[in-house]
Amino acid sequence: MQPEEFDLVMLGGGTGSTVAAWTFAGEGKRVAVVDRKYIGGSCPNIACLPSKNIIHSAKIASYIRRSKEFGISLDGFTIDMSGVRDRKRKMVSDLNDMYLENYRNTGAILILGGTGRFIAPKTVEVTLPEWDQASVARHQRDHKYRYASHPGSNPWPC
Ligand SMILES: Cc1cc2nc3c(=O)[nH]c(=O)nc-3n(C[C@H](O)[C@H](O)[C@H](O)COP(=O)(O)OP(=O)(O)OC[C@H]3O[C@@H](n4cnc5c(N)ncnc54)[C@H](O)[C@@H]3O)c2cc1C
Repeated sequence: MQPEEFDLVMLGGGTGSTVAAWTFAGEGKRVAVVDRKYIGGSCPNIACLPSKNIIHSAKIASYIRRSKEFGISLDGFTIDMSGVRDRKRKMVSDLNDMYLENYRNTGAILILGGTGRFIAPKTVEVTLPEWDQASVARHQRDHKYRYASHPGSNPWPC
């Protein structure tokens, strides 16, 4: 396979590298972001934001439990954990869409599902999961980014 040339390759698509990638790509540089698992890294997928989303649900439950204290009478309530989880999942999914939109708009290429490693100075080798090779090739023709994922499904539910 012929190596591709980029002005900048980001290994790992966390918050800082993603913003840098969009900025440089927006300035006309050819930029690739390689992430083996997440669109946007840990923060929007499994760390800062999902945790605050769930903590917010817990806070609401706490307020309702203490409603009398605030002069509000309630007969009781139940917590539907699947509803809590679905709300969090929707937030993560919306954030992923927003990130992908930014990739599209700036022209930075996201190689999602790829594991990168340096094999020489300024040379990164990206290994893609076998099941994704066809999908990557197909998307490469249609989009400015390569979204190495099963179309229409999320192989990494959180
Ligand atoms: C539960 C929890 C709550 C948190 N809450 C907060 C908070 O409220 N405020 C705050 O400031 N911080 C918070 N943090 C910390 C914050 O999430 C991290 O500091 C931040 O996400 C780190 O960003 P990063 O870009 O360095 O790494 P990451 O976001 O982890 O990005 C690294 C990415 O690199 C990819 N990767 C790694 N190696 C390779 C490879 N060889 N090839 C391809 N891809 C690779 C990984 O898949 C990952 O997506 C929280 C963390 C946790 C766990």
